[in-house]
Amino acid sequence: MPLNVEVGRMPYHWPKDTDFALWELDVLDRDCPVCGRFMHICDHRYRHFHSLEGPVELVCKLNHCPDVACQGHAKTISPELEMTIALPKMAIGWDVFCWVGHRRFSRHWSIPQILSELSDQYRIKISADSIGRYILRYQVMLAARQEDPKTLLEQYQSVDEMILCIDGLQPEKGHETLYVVRELTQKRVWFAEALISATAEEVRRLITKAKEWAKALNKKVGLWLSDRQDAFVTGIAAEFPDVPHRYCDNHFLRDVAKPVLEADSHAKVTMRKKVRGLRKIEQTVLKQQGTEAPKDTTAADPESSVGVVMPAVTPPQVDAAGAVVLDYCAAVRGIVNDDQGGPLHPPGLRMAEALNEVRESIQRNLDEKKGGSQRSNLVAWPVASTEVSTQCGRNTRRSEATSRRSRKSRQPLILEAAVVQGVSRSSRN
Ligand SMILES: [Zn+2]
Repeated sequence: MPLNVEVGRMPYHWPKDTDFALWELDVLDRDCPVCGRFMHICDHRYRHFHSLEGPVELVCKLNHCPDVACQGHAKTISPELEMTIALPKMAIGWDVFCWVGHRRFSRHWSIPQILSELSDQYRIKISADSIGRYILRYQVMLAARQEDPKTLLEQYQSVDEMILCIDGLQPEKGHETLYVVRELTQKRVWFAEALISATAEEVRRLITKAKEWAKALNKKVGLWLSDRQDAFVTGIAAEFPDVPHRYCDNHFLRDVAKPVLEADSHAKVTMRKKVRGLRKIEQTVLKQQGTEAPKDTTAADPESSVGVVMPAVTPPQVDAAGAVVLDYCAAVRGIVNDDQGGPLHPPGLRMAEALNEVRESIQRNLDEKKGGSQRSNLVAWPVASTEVSTQCGRNTRRSEATSRRSRKSRQPLILEAAVVQGVSRSSRN
């Protein structure tokens, strides 16, 4: 079996005209490990793999003891350095292997990105499956290295005090929680365990383990951080009685944010109640243009379709003014259904700002029409339906400023509608 075959995988296919660099490896210590006699070369092993410098043909000279009576005769010895060049059965050398792992875990590249960069930059063509397997192996090695006591000792040499934290993560709903112990001064994950039932006893075991690690490093723990889960509070108090224990500010923020988000959600409901009748406006436009409204499976009331971004209605034939009205409707619908944003960017606040922009935009259109000679039925549309009272002083001031500015710059109607569409798109992201 050729050695560049991954066990149970298809062998790597090298094109016939591949230009390999020839590397030869000898056994360095040629004394028979059993009798000490000088060993002979008995065979050659040929390997092919990618290096960042190009394809390599590695010839390994295999040795054995010439004495048929010696146990060392039946056993072949491989060159010691082979493992330092490429792992057994891999079609890439260590340099490519490390390059892949670094791009994945340090730069967070996707597999397709790694694939194309390897191909473009180094002319290395490997399948996505292989890359996936290399990444898995890299991960295993990295994890082993992370827990290597010698490496840890080196990294913590210059550290005076450590800050430890423990938290439970749930990578997927319904899965057991992964409890992770991290050290924050070196930003290092110490260890992680999936606990099916996170009893106080189980959690305490992890905290005891952290204590053993700290002891092995011979460093003081200056602070513990966690959320207020009982098992953390009691476990840390028991194992680290003299170490202050603080609650994580992220969890704190999340808890504080709860009432804020509730108020924000309430404001959203109020705004949605005011901004109604989009469907009716659209139907009126389409009727006037003699076009049947496309069947809308979603409800006319935006309130009942929270979180669903409805497709914009794009009727086949409406005149310019009608199209603008429909565009406005689509924009407002996008805004009203936008649920993005967290505690620091409450969705209701975003909604209020976006609706205000629409209102200002419509006002600019109306001002434009009043100045122009053409009468438009746009004025007849229920402009008031976009009215939003946010009771927010900043917004009001800003709105005044914008409308003053816009009265000076007279923009065409269509452009204005395009701007509003842009607003609605960006607010959906
Ligand atoms: Zn021997």
